[in-house]
Amino acid sequence: MKNIKINNNFKRIFIVLIILSIFLIGIQAASAATPTVTVEKWGTGGDVTKNSLIKKNIPKSEITTKVIKAAKKGTPVVKFGNGKGKKTLIVSGVHGSELSSQVASMKLINYLSKKKNIKGTIYVIPFVAPKATAKNQRFYNGKNLNSIANKKGSITNKIMLFAKKNKIDAVGDFHCTMPGGNPGKNIIMGTKVPTLKSARMAIGISRLIKQPYRNYLIAGKEYPGALEDVLNLRGIPAVTCEVKTPHGKIASGSITASLRQMLGFLRYNKIIT
Ligand SMILES: [Zn+2]
Repeated sequence: MKNIKINNNFKRIFIVLIILSIFLIGIQAASAATPTVTVEKWGTGGDVTKNSLIKKNIPKSEITTKVIKAAKKGTPVVKFGNGKGKKTLIVSGVHGSELSSQVASMKLINYLSKKKNIKGTIYVIPFVAPKATAKNQRFYNGKNLNSIANKKGSITNKIMLFAKKNKIDAVGDFHCTMPGGNPGKNIIMGTKVPTLKSARMAIGISRLIKQPYRNYLIAGKEYPGALEDVLNLRGIPAVTCEVKTPHGKIASGSITASLRQMLGFLRYNKIIT
């Protein structure tokens, strides 16, 4: 009699455990994958929350705290996906005072960390040079990082090497352009030669998000040392996306416009739907 009772209890516990594990597996399959945050120790570290507009506009969350902490030690990299599938890289903050695209990157990171069904791999570098972002400065250590990607040892050259090492298939570099400047409007830019996929991507994103595009003929001609150009010259299709806002400030709608460009870039590359 006693033995039967113990057996029955055991059976019940066993059934409960099975139901519980099926439930947990189900939750895990449906939930978003946790991103990993790493740091490239390039001497670029800084406290981006010292920039009051960055602090005010980025989402407050656990992942944001992680990224801010990482940025104090160097250039933070947030990775979504397991390294398989098509690999994409989103970059912002090549110019430290171009705030809307850096805030948009942080919004994207927060959005993706809750998103299910990311197909492939996404790397996001939200702050290329946190030190320059913290000081709201366009240049890093007095240098325009978007004119020296062709110089060995520069931070943007290191980003190109990072893209090579991680076998990145497409790069989006996100910037801000002054009203009345060049291009002075929201735009997607690519280059035809030698990586035609760059020009095709600019047109594709432009169609998806209904913003204009401009394709240059030869990479490195108009803008030698621009990150996009150097990536295209190395055979990694890249686009430059600009949103209109004064440097060091955030114009109304410019964060949303930049985020739209980033999502368009990911949709074009079939990483998200
Ligand atoms: Zn820029």
